[in-house]
Amino acid sequence: MQNIFELTAVDLYPEIMNIYGDRGNILYFKYRASMYGIELKIENISLKNSFNPDCTDIIFMGGGQDAEQALIYEYFIKNCKDMLKKALNANKVMLAVCGSYQLLCDYYKSSDNKIVKGISLFNAYTESKRPRLTGNIAIKFNDVIAVGFENHGGRTYLEKKQESFGTVLYGSGNNGDDKTEGARTNNFFGTYLHGSFLPKNFMFCDYLIDIALKNRYDMALDEIIEINGIKPIDNVFETNARRDIRELRGII
Ligand code: GLN
Repeated sequence: MQNIFELTAVDLYPEIMNIYGDRGNILYFKYRASMYGIELKIENISLKNSFNPDCTDIIFMGGGQDAEQALIYEYFIKNCKDMLKKALNANKVMLAVCGSYQLLCDYYKSSDNKIVKGISLFNAYTESKRPRLTGNIAIKFNDVIAVGFENHGGRTYLEKKQESFGTVLYGSGNNGDDKTEGARTNNFFGTYLHGSFLPKNFMFCDYLIDIALKNRYDMALDEIIEINGIKPIDNVFETNARRDIRELRGII
């Protein structure tokens, strides 16, 4: 009989911050966790609401065009800024994609030259320029090659001391110049990878679940796999989805 472990997650503004399949990330978190006998409870956070970082293990926020970023901005700053800072300092896990990644930086200069002040959890800034950076992308994070799709006008520049999420192997990443992609502070990850990201990068999903379990239960995913007698997952769909990205053949 499996021991059911529980994790909780929040999805910030899923009705608005959700493009290029981003919603698939939180659904895949739930599916992947369930494969290990872990029940992931998801709470959708809407504009007027906030969340309690003490009762949250994983935070997700998807991307959004300039209009969506402007729509959520006041609520995001008013209701979520302090909660996110508290969660970051408590080593909680966050995955922020593209438009939300940009709002976790110092500022975003949008395509109409408006400066949108971010919440500075990443020491970086973004300026929108033409042409947009679009297409398939592959990056290296630790020993993992992560793949996805990017479409952004913003060019993000990391300050010296800011750790990137990965190194670009194919595609543009943060700015198409310095080969950095995304950013990482504690267990907060910002990335430009849409797609959706996690189903094509299941090993990174396991990595995030492992961090959340260590925070919550002081137990590693491997221990729970052993306790629950979980057989190795075949990842056939996920692996085929990666392989189907023709441009990246030879890289992955
Ligand atoms: N509006 C931002 C940009 O263009 C983010 C876009 C996105 O989330 N894909 O850079």
